[in-house]
Amino acid sequence: MKVSSLPADDNSCGWYHLSQPRTPCPAHKGHSSAPWVVVGAGFTGLAAARQLAINFPADEIVLVEAQEVGLGPSGRNAGFAIDLPHDIGAEDYIGDITLARKSLKLNIAGQTLLKELVAQHGIDCQLKSCGKYQAAVEDRGIQVLEAYRRGLDKLDQPYEMIDRDILPQHLGTHFYRQALYTPGAVLVQPSALVKGLADSLPANVTLYEWTPIREVEYGTHTLLKHAQGSITAEKLVLANNSFGMRFGFLKGSMLPIYTYGSLTRPLTIDEQHRLGGKPYWGAIPADPFGTTVRRTPDNRLLIRNSFSFNPDGRSKAKFNQRFVHRHRASFEARFPMLPDVEFQYTWGGALAMARNHNGFFGQLANNVFAALGCNGLGVTRGTISGALLGDWLAGQEDELTAFLLTAPGPNGNPPQPFLSLGVNMNLMWGQYRAGRES
Ligand SMILES: Cc1cc2nc3c(=O)[nH]c(=O)nc-3n(C[C@H](O)[C@H](O)[C@H](O)COP(=O)(O)OP(=O)(O)OC[C@H]3O[C@@H](n4cnc5c(N)ncnc54)[C@H](O)[C@@H]3O)c2cc1C
Repeated sequence: MKVSSLPADDNSCGWYHLSQPRTPCPAHKGHSSAPWVVVGAGFTGLAAARQLAINFPADEIVLVEAQEVGLGPSGRNAGFAIDLPHDIGAEDYIGDITLARKSLKLNIAGQTLLKELVAQHGIDCQLKSCGKYQAAVEDRGIQVLEAYRRGLDKLDQPYEMIDRDILPQHLGTHFYRQALYTPGAVLVQPSALVKGLADSLPANVTLYEWTPIREVEYGTHTLLKHAQGSITAEKLVLANNSFGMRFGFLKGSMLPIYTYGSLTRPLTIDEQHRLGGKPYWGAIPADPFGTTVRRTPDNRLLIRNSFSFNPDGRSKAKFNQRFVHRHRASFEARFPMLPDVEFQYTWGGALAMARNHNGFFGQLANNVFAALGCNGLGVTRGTISGALLGDWLAGQEDELTAFLLTAPGPNGNPPQPFLSLGVNMNLMWGQYRAGRES
């Protein structure tokens, strides 16, 4: 079968340009075979390939990436490695408490793994264990923070509620009415992190970049064809997020929804004084359709908001142009003391969202396995799903693997054109309802 859509991320992402340049691994050419082939070198695929390599030291693990590592969604996100459950479908972000406890364990395991790899390989990715603020400005947002606080009490997790008059000491801005600070989140420069993870893979992983798989033939072995040859996989692992659907599985279940970021130039010393607050921090909105803001360790400000539904999963330049104006408005509302600070980069990137916020983990067909569907939390969740898949394929199973294997998976959706109509209306309504939080 033909792979019906291929990733097409442009090179507009600031994180990519501001991280250490690296020479991508050569593309695959000719014909070869391997016991294990992993498709997709984002957080999930990098973790899966690494874990398979550890568990099968005598096997070659082939990792194939359509683009360059650090250019795709794993290098384009806001860089929050979140520990807490982040169930945006639940009014308190926590939802069912039994599931939330498992989710917490999974996220912490993913975060711990990332921290260990960063330390072990000296990956320079601005990692800061500085927690995160969930900040509100509308009445609805304040109610969400109250609900979230109750959820955190049930989960027995630490937090601090910070009121309007104290918040500027943390964030500089006077924009927010209240924030709930949780200490467990870790912030990173995402492109630097994935580049570092790729460059520190075990020796028995062979990474091929700029090798988009265009055709696939399933059987006892899987034949993966690309423009310059093919690879035969004894066992195939799909770690390519919503593009997994393009390999014939879970059709229509994961929605490729794009969200957008802008990064300013570095603030001057004078601007840093005018802003005030802590030297680096990250704030996510109480309303999931609101704006995420970061002050980075190199003194830039990040704005992330706006969504578009791109059913083919590919980026569209028109949205970058449209949403940079919204980023500017959000920036000016929060940072009126920085009128001359312009954006240096604006980009978009794909999330794979399911209506029930579930991803897929496990077996899809004979000798075909997958960890797919990041649901906006791929930094920690993708990492741990990939690593646990690598363990499970080596016959190791624990309570977290069992939890992922028994999860319902992403649910179905109505066909087009009803799907696009429904998703676009939902996105427009959500963004309108977010009000000043957007
Ligand atoms: C602006 C933005 C902000 C975000 N903020 C956060 C955040 O703060 N925290 C968080 O946890 N998450 C965040 N996310 C989501 C996060 O980026 C994703 O969850 C994460 O990238 C998922 O990782 P992954 O490895 O599963 O998939 P991906 O990163 O999508 O990697 C899949 C890879 O598969 C490759 N691929 C696809 N098809 C093929 C093919 N045919 N052949 C070969 N290779 C192929 C792609 O090129 C891609 O590199 C954000 C996303 C965006 C866009």
